[in-house]
Amino acid sequence: MKNHARIRSSFEQHYGHPPEWIARAPGRINLLGEHVDYNDGWVLPAAIDRCARLAFSASTTSEIMLYAADLEANVRFDLNALDDKLDCDGNPLPGWALYPAGVAWVLRQNHLPISGLQAVLTSQIPIGSGLSSSAAIEVIFAVAWQALSPWQQTPMELAQICQRAENEYVGVQCGLMDPFSILHGVRDHALFFDTRTLDWEPVPLPAHVSLVVADSGVRRRLGGSAYNQRREACEQALRLLAKRLPGVHALRDVSLDDFREHEQALPPSLRPIAEHVVGECVRVLRAADLLKAEDAKGFGALMLEGHASLRDLYQVSSPELDTLVEIARELPGCLGARLTGAGFGGCTVNLVEAQTAETFIERLSSAYAQRTGGKADVWISRPVDGANLLLHGQRKPV
Ligand code: ADP
Ligand code: MG
Repeated sequence: MKNHARIRSSFEQHYGHPPEWIARAPGRINLLGEHVDYNDGWVLPAAIDRCARLAFSASTTSEIMLYAADLEANVRFDLNALDDKLDCDGNPLPGWALYPAGVAWVLRQNHLPISGLQAVLTSQIPIGSGLSSSAAIEVIFAVAWQALSPWQQTPMELAQICQRAENEYVGVQCGLMDPFSILHGVRDHALFFDTRTLDWEPVPLPAHVSLVVADSGVRRRLGGSAYNQRREACEQALRLLAKRLPGVHALRDVSLDDFREHEQALPPSLRPIAEHVVGECVRVLRAADLLKAEDAKGFGALMLEGHASLRDLYQVSSPELDTLVEIARELPGCLGARLTGAGFGGCTVNLVEAQTAETFIERLSSAYAQRTGGKADVWISRPVDGANLLLHGQRKPV
């Protein structure tokens, strides 16, 4: 409740009255299935206990007044002038305001009327660390506008709206996994999600394991541009493979055998890219079965394979992430470790025997400092429920 009290008082200071609502949206980790959600693949993420919060009230105008507490920055923009991406003074919107403005833009494109807002935003999700601070912000605004409107979308529809905001307004060609996880999180469960059919199923994490997140402290380099390049490479590989493989509509449709038979059709630069996606899809399907069978050891081994594939084939790791994984895998009680999120910096996720988790954290932090001179932030992360709302202190689902 401390977090709620703080954001409530910040809102009162800003606007001179208490907020009507508070929304919460968690970050997410991905246990397996990286860079496959834009290839129609399967993923295994979980919502985590670091959250964004938004205190808000409807305003009587079409203006959005927003204070980003962590950045100590204000912005004002008008719902009737979203196309131009300008604030009320005619200046370009700051980068961080593109996320809420993008959500507003998609909602209006979808003929879902929304109101002006007074709002204060704060988040515990580290920025650019692969824990999806951006999607948490998109989701929190989608949830806020829905709370103030007569229309009702399903959580999956809200996730699609957020994805479109990031694709078309912010300009990052991300998939559906991030907003999906943030909206559908289930406490103590991973989410086995088919990004093509949109079927999903919560899978309990075995009670004897903990998830440990290690933030390398290195923020993502290259960000959206490298991400978009990988996506483009996947599309090129798909076009070439589909010419030889009828019925293939996405890389997720290519089996390992098909890939081996036809990889020569791809230029050398595209081969490892496609191989990662094909292999990663197979890994997630096996991993989901192992998790259901409570085989944490088998699951962890696939996480390590997944990391090697992201490092060697997809080439989105970084020296710091590789160091974290190399140290972790040798520590007692560690079952698996891999980078999580898009890569190029950010965090690893580790699957650790619960009784060794505290020692694991100490040893990973000190060995990382010794080897790199850098400081990693390492903590136990619990899967939590997806985004929700508080109205006058009462918890409400989205
Ligand atoms: P991530 O992996 O964390 O999603 P992105 O680069 O996709 O990294 O998104 C990070 C961007 O989201 C930031 O540059 C900023 O624009 C926005 N953002 C994240 N957290 C906050 C916050 N607490 N306040 C304002 N904007 C934020
Ligand atoms: Mg992001």
